[in-house]
Amino acid sequence: MDQKHELLKQYFGYTDFREGQESIINELLNGRDALCIMPTGAGKSICYQIPALMLEGITLVVSPLISLMNDQVSLLTQVGVRAAYLNSSLTLGQYHRVLGNIANGQYKIVYVAPERLMTEEFLRLCRRIHISLVAVDEAHCVSQWGQDFRPSYLKILEFIESLDIRPTVGAFTATATQKIREDIVDILRLQEPFTITTGFDRPNLFFSVIRTKPKNAQLLKLMAERREKSGIIYCATRKKVEQVCALLCENGYAATRYHAGLSEQERRQNQADFVYDAKNVMVATNAFGMGIDKSNVSYVIHYNMPKNIESYYQEAGRAGRDGEEAECILMYGASDVHTNELLITHSAPNPELEEERQEAVRRLEYDRLKHMTFYCTTNDCLRGFILKYFGEKPKNYCGKCANCLTQYETIDATVPAQKILSCVIRAGQRYGRRMIADILLGRQNERLTYLGLDKLTTYGIMKDTSQKALHDMMTCLEEEGYLFTTGGEYPILKVAPSCTALLKGETTFTIKVPKEKQSSEEKKFRRPSKASEEYAVDQELFQQLKVLRRELADKARVPSYIIFSNITLNDMCRKRPTTVTEFLSVSGVGQQKLERYGEDFMSLIRRYQEEHGEE
Ligand code: ADP
Ligand code: ZN
Repeated sequence: MDQKHELLKQYFGYTDFREGQESIINELLNGRDALCIMPTGAGKSICYQIPALMLEGITLVVSPLISLMNDQVSLLTQVGVRAAYLNSSLTLGQYHRVLGNIANGQYKIVYVAPERLMTEEFLRLCRRIHISLVAVDEAHCVSQWGQDFRPSYLKILEFIESLDIRPTVGAFTATATQKIREDIVDILRLQEPFTITTGFDRPNLFFSVIRTKPKNAQLLKLMAERREKSGIIYCATRKKVEQVCALLCENGYAATRYHAGLSEQERRQNQADFVYDAKNVMVATNAFGMGIDKSNVSYVIHYNMPKNIESYYQEAGRAGRDGEEAECILMYGASDVHTNELLITHSAPNPELEEERQEAVRRLEYDRLKHMTFYCTTNDCLRGFILKYFGEKPKNYCGKCANCLTQYETIDATVPAQKILSCVIRAGQRYGRRMIADILLGRQNERLTYLGLDKLTTYGIMKDTSQKALHDMMTCLEEEGYLFTTGGEYPILKVAPSCTALLKGETTFTIKVPKEKQSSEEKKFRRPSKASEEYAVDQELFQQLKVLRRELADKARVPSYIIFSNITLNDMCRKRPTTVTEFLSVSGVGQQKLERYGEDFMSLIRRYQEEHGEE
């Protein structure tokens, strides 16, 4: 095992890197700048935390939000990494203590608010110490094209350039638009950065759009099915937040609220209630969220449609960060479009931008709103729609969104598949897709007749099929490996050996096809299939582990997910570790967590085993 993997296990308790992580780490270790675009929850932090542990000197992480920094530092401290933050939540005394500790080389990782970078005291200190890496978290905040633009982020470059030795710079974001990407590279002056964009898919999220009215009744129905779970409900306005929160409280839900109209103190209190699970529902405007690391959010409901797909995916993506199955539900009403149009038209001018740029940004906003609306009205796969928006090429059926479950059906297509395959064979495996389709559909064309292909027994045997359906079927046959196309200027369709079984009828062939057009009213909302069913764990044990986690969290004064994620507790239920080695094999358990909490959890499990017999 190399050092990277050792550190991953020792500190974070994971055995394998996720997509993209290892290559980013390698590049940063080699001193190359990097731009890393990964969706929320994909694991960006580890990409700079592991290099931070391996490199000499310290790593500075520039981060826009206090809550985010505090959370990350708690997490790191819990796993035994010496880390600290510098932001306005510290008293002057604490601030100086941290600066002193930095000077003494006490920390490997320091989180800094961007506006602190150019303060004289901090700069003086930074010139004396060895900074090996500067990681810019939420790097899209440098771009004026996005909605999260923070003028203080423009100071980062100035800071980097004022150091005697330029550290390696890594920029991290979940925002994928090309313009913003270019801005990050330009504004931070990344030097030939290694750039990586991992897939934007979040396989554990289930997507749905609900168009039934009235919304309140619909919401209560959704809530009743999710009573025990923790979730966020986003509303477009403060007023709506107040109404919805009151509605839920009246109906016996432990709901709290968050919007910019509340006092700073109340916001902080409400956020803490939610993060520490004292209240399990948060009703909020989009002011709530960036930097909320609460990983056990199991649903995000949008009471109103947000203004664009970027915002939607970011907000909805706060569900299931622990990797558990989670749901993203959008309640769409036509008036949401109008509200958003007004918001764009009347948005306060950004004093940082010239009039012309302002107008361009506004046009872009309208365009984005249009796509958001399309998402709400499409009958196509919702996940596919989002991924395409971010420039990916997803399959047109994901099987895990409301549209795939209600708008598509599985049909047996063995017979048409046999027809297609035998046509390819009869025609001597010499023609491309178009010609094969023409033969099957019984079309006339000069070349076809000249070649005598209209004499084939397969000529016209699919004349009742639509051209599109036929092409879709051919695509499926290719995807399943029954057919393949040769390369070159004139690609030729050929059959693969596996087609024999299908032709003999020894196997069957099914495809997903869109159902006949349904009106939107008929479009029913369905709960996700319980994909985790096969992994169902002993709920009683799981509950006991949760109670223990809660006690330990209260004692340590941290949110429970900082102790262990639900994924880790689930894994414990499955593995029921009673020895140190077994405990270490649980995903999310590293050395520190073993030492701190291992005994508590293992004795609970032992006791449980004795009481329940060792099935
Ligand atoms: P991001 O910053 O990209 O939104 P985080 O860094 O917060 O995501 O990571 C999201 C979750 O994934 C965290 O709970 C983290 O511990 C977990 N995680 C990260 N890397 C791995 C890995 N290699 N294996 C398993 N879990 C991981
Ligand atoms: Zn789908």
